[in-house]
Amino acid sequence: MKAYFTTERLVVRPLVPDDAAAAFRWCGDPEVNTYMFYPLYTSVEDVRAWLESRNLDEPDNYDEGIVLKSTGELIGSGGMRYHPERNAWEIGYNIRRDQWGHGYVVEYLTALVEYIRKFRPVEAIDGIFAAENHKSRRVMEKMEMAYVRDTVFDKLDGSKTFPAKLYRRNFPQPSGECLICDRIEWIRNGGNPYFVRELETGYVVIGDSQRFEGYTLLLCREHATELSQLTPDFRDAFLRDMALTAEAVQLAFHPDKLNYELLGTGKGRHMHWHIFPRRNGDTPMPGPVWQVQDMQDVQYRPGPEKLSELREALGQAIDRLRKGEA
Ligand SMILES: [Zn+2]
Repeated sequence: MKAYFTTERLVVRPLVPDDAAAAFRWCGDPEVNTYMFYPLYTSVEDVRAWLESRNLDEPDNYDEGIVLKSTGELIGSGGMRYHPERNAWEIGYNIRRDQWGHGYVVEYLTALVEYIRKFRPVEAIDGIFAAENHKSRRVMEKMEMAYVRDTVFDKLDGSKTFPAKLYRRNFPQPSGECLICDRIEWIRNGGNPYFVRELETGYVVIGDSQRFEGYTLLLCREHATELSQLTPDFRDAFLRDMALTAEAVQLAFHPDKLNYELLGTGKGRHMHWHIFPRRNGDTPMPGPVWQVQDMQDVQYRPGPEKLSELREALGQAIDRLRKGEA
């Protein structure tokens, strides 16, 4: 994926083919390459061909350029790739030799973990490094990663096999007992990028899928399955909050019609309102949204910019309604 952010000393941005000459300074350096799995590059043109071949939209891979703020120079690259079989994000990096020893890798990777956690769950980060590579071990330790097991890795061209170590850091996860409680916990921890507003009886969030643009949920503050389990006052307030949320969706996204559904979930039966903005012809046949098979497709997941636009529009609409301005 493409990532753009800055840290205290670094600017992080995608690598582009025009970075070939700068990247050759590490890709073509035998000392930097010693413990890399890719073979040593011997020409700028080969580096360019590699840069041109990369897919920057691959959702499970972040591999960005690292630029020094003070000089504007590209000094390395690195990132994390998700490995579903381990449910972990594996780190990797290269830094130009004359820039070693300043802690740039740790500064970048620490910020990258925080960045990715805004969009994806990160349960663990892994690092695999040659056992004799003490510099990498130091990086892992500074990342608060710890030894898990011995392993090996091969150079891609088969020229060498390294005895290696797998280091890992786990990140604390919610209980997992109720998906809605987990989402609420995520909001309370301040990290939930879908969160829009807190109301008296629950939390307004943008839906993970935007197949129906403006799809919004109201998560009930109480872990309860039915309206009848709520106190009458809380129940009435919850229904009012739902009406407010729905009206805000209408104001912000101008659908032809709204759908309102109060569902639990398979895992954790915890009431939450689904508010779907509907538009003429938005499903193959007239009827509920659930006939759409591909609703959870990756293509409908909003990126950071889209998500912020949706949050902004809905948040403003809620604020206006609460102030009686709309
Ligand atoms: Zn719950």
